Amino acid sequence: STFAEIDLGDAVNENIRRCKYVKPTPVQRHAIPILVAGRDLMACAQTGSGKTAAFCFPIISGIMRGPPSHRQRGSRTVYPSALILSPTRELSIQIHEEARKFSYQAGVRVVVAYGGAPINQQLRELERGVDILVATPGRLVDLLERARVSLQNIRYLALDEADRMLDMGFEPQIRKIVEQMDMPTRGQRQTMLFSATFPREIQRLASDFLFNYIFLAV
Ligand code: AMP
Repeated sequence: STFAEIDLGDAVNENIRRCKYVKPTPVQRHAIPILVAGRDLMACAQTGSGKTAAFCFPIISGIMRGPPSHRQRGSRTVYPSALILSPTRELSIQIHEEARKFSYQAGVRVVVAYGGAPINQQLRELERGVDILVATPGRLVDLLERARVSLQNIRYLALDEADRMLDMGFEPQIRKIVEQMDMPTRGQRQTMLFSATFPREIQRLASDFLFNYIFLAV
């Protein structure tokens, strides 16, 4: 099978060509149609499986087709449409770089925010607008407490390397973050959970955050 068989829109398909991805990886072949169909997904996938593109392509494609990200005049709060949570600064930077390549000329703006670095540069990037926010949990909680980010308009939530986030003790922050987007209803947001392993704690996260989800192990 090829990427062209999945309707991701002209801009994303053009970027896939630019990246020289010829054939979808197994996780992409299975996950992308499920996500394009709007379903929630729990996927067991390792690093190197191509999971980043598996969740980025449907998110970018969905945002391109949806309403523009909300902005309030005179307010410094931004309202991203998609949130990608990742455990570390390194992984966040990597996801941000990939997502930017995939969204080239798609009219979708991707911003990254991670801890262990000065917040001011990140605040300036956010102020210029954001459709997709890639963030580590701790830094995002900080941004929420400063009211610089609102999660009220989140339509797509991806948790990457969820098992690693739990190992690092981020569960309270993740729950706090997801609580802020539970309005008005769970079914209005599309949630995708990626994890290399599927222990009991991840199963619990899946049943708490996902709605009528499909389980995928590749
Ligand atoms: P990931 O598992 O998302 O970290 O991706 C691993 C690597 O595979 C990255 O360098 C991607 O750019 C690359 N990659 C992802 N999907 C494909 C594909 N369909 N064809 C070729 N390379 C890919």
